Amino acid sequence: MHLGCIADDLTGATDLALMLQSAGMRTIQLIGVPESADAAPRDVDAVVIALKSRTSPPAAAVSQSLAALAWLRARGAAQILFKYCSTFDSTDAGNIGPVADALLDAIGAPFTVACPAFPTNKRTVYLGHLFVGAQLLSDSPMQDHPLTPMRDANLVRVLGRQTRRKVGLVPLATVRQGAQAMREAFAALQASGHAYAVVDAVEDQDLRALGAACRDLALLTGGSGIAMGLPGNFGVCPGSVAAPAAVGGHAAILSGSCSAQSNLQVAHWSAAHPAFRIEPLLLAAGEDQAAAALAWAGPRLAEGPVLIYATARPDAVHLAQAKLGAHQAGMLVEACLAKIARGLVALGVRRLVVAGGETSGAVVEALGTRALRIGPAIDPGVPWTQSLGEPPLALALKSGNFGAVDFFDKALGMQT
Ligand code: ADP
Repeated sequence: MHLGCIADDLTGATDLALMLQSAGMRTIQLIGVPESADAAPRDVDAVVIALKSRTSPPAAAVSQSLAALAWLRARGAAQILFKYCSTFDSTDAGNIGPVADALLDAIGAPFTVACPAFPTNKRTVYLGHLFVGAQLLSDSPMQDHPLTPMRDANLVRVLGRQTRRKVGLVPLATVRQGAQAMREAFAALQASGHAYAVVDAVEDQDLRALGAACRDLALLTGGSGIAMGLPGNFGVCPGSVAAPAAVGGHAAILSGSCSAQSNLQVAHWSAAHPAFRIEPLLLAAGEDQAAAALAWAGPRLAEGPVLIYATARPDAVHLAQAKLGAHQAGMLVEACLAKIARGLVALGVRRLVVAGGETSGAVVEALGTRALRIGPAIDPGVPWTQSLGEPPLALALKSGNFGAVDFFDKALGMQT
């Protein structure tokens, strides 16, 4: 294995796996750290271990990440990539700094880079400041994220608050001079006591140059964009990977994301196709909405895909959260959608689109999915995947903000 990756959430891991696969690396995604070194196929160039550590207490995130590192190193990973969100989702307590520190210590590496840029999805870094489209991160909707509100766009400062090590910057002017200039900048930063370099990148070409500059680093950290330039270091060429075989069977969509984009996608689908709504307040009142949704879906599946969703607009979400608490509302919905996923598979569903990062985590856990092969991209950052195990399932796991408005039609219209 050339590259071992540790991703701090499930849909982010899939996004990274797609990036690597598209760049020509045979890539497998594992869900959690497997128990044995033989738990995954060996005919791969890269393994992405998906953790659920983005918002865990820092000590738990560190220990999960170190377990993933140990597994990847036992399987011979030549280089390690710690992948986090392209909006640098974290708090002053962590988890990006503490996890990166622990990985540096465990590997015995003195220095690494931090670059969340993903220009295709409009995340760019300039003079150390992260932009979401035309807005600074701190002016974007990320300032109101319920768990990781991002109110400072200066990543040198943000990461600096999460680590005792020194954080420096490699500005775009140096990045544009190419890989050798960046390596010299890394050496200069290291010589002046820095352990991290936030690296600017505003276009794909910057990320490709950064990849080449990082050839000899034992550890890299960044968003999925940083993977763009890595396969070339291992002599891998784009386009050499075959997609997994097609999966037949019924199709369904489950949406537990309440992001603005998921709301648009659910509204777009529901305007022309069957859809069933899950209500957290009814769940809290003891109504078995999973059974109701499955009874509704059963006779419809033979006619085409159905959508079951808890997706709601902010005012409805706030109402449910005010009555139940945000955590309890989320857990009720996740448990219900997970139960529905199991029921749909029992009804013959083999192609499942899931919207929402946490929702996807709950669904794959309920389905007992441990590993995914990466298939074709539906929209940037979201591929079809195929679960290893019986029965094989085609799964499209979409993080809330990803995908075009017609994402569900597009996904289900593809040959998977
Ligand atoms: P995203 O990728 O958009 O962040 P997630 O699935 O990660 O989506 O998170 C959405 C959370 O909101 C989940 O915990 C889900 O159960 C919860 N949720 C879904 N629908 C509702 C609702 N109507 N009211 C309150 N919480 C909800």
